[in-house]
Amino acid sequence: MATQQSQQRRPRFLRHTRQREAILRVLRTTHEHPTADWIYQEVRKEIPHISLGTVYRNLKILTEMGEARELTFGSSYSRYDGDPTPHYHFLCDECGKIEDLDMPVMDSLESQAAEWTDGRITSHRLVFHGVCAECQKQQQ
Ligand code: ZN
Ligand code: MN
Repeated sequence: MATQQSQQRRPRFLRHTRQREAILRVLRTTHEHPTADWIYQEVRKEIPHISLGTVYRNLKILTEMGEARELTFGSSYSRYDGDPTPHYHFLCDECGKIEDLDMPVMDSLESQAAEWTDGRITSHRLVFHGVCAECQKQQQ
C-alpha cells in the first residue's frame, strides 16, 4: 500500500521526465533523422499509453533544451536529430533520406556573413541537396 501511495504522490514532472528520456533514447539510437510519427511508434513499444501530442510536446522541449534538433524542409514533415552538435546534412531529393556529413563545420562562414548584415549571427545551417547513392543506382 505504501508503495502505491508513493507512486500516486510522485510529482507529475517526474513522469514527464521519464517520457522525455524515452523519446531522447529512441532519437539517439538512430541516424535516420526520423519524423515525430516514427519516434511515436518506437516509444509506444516502451510506453504504450503515450500520445502523439506528448511526443510532439517533448520533442519541442528537447529542441529548446538543446538536446535535439528539429530539421525543417519547406512544407514537408519536420525531421528530428538526436545529435545536437553542429554538423551538415545531405538531403536526397528523390527518397527524402538525410545523411550526416562528417566534414568540418566552417565557422569562418559566420564571420564572412557578418560583413553583410548589421544583425548578430549566432549560428548557421547548411543542407546539401542531391540524389543519394542508392537512388542513383536505381536510376541507372
Ligand atoms: Zn535517395
Ligand atoms: Mn544529423
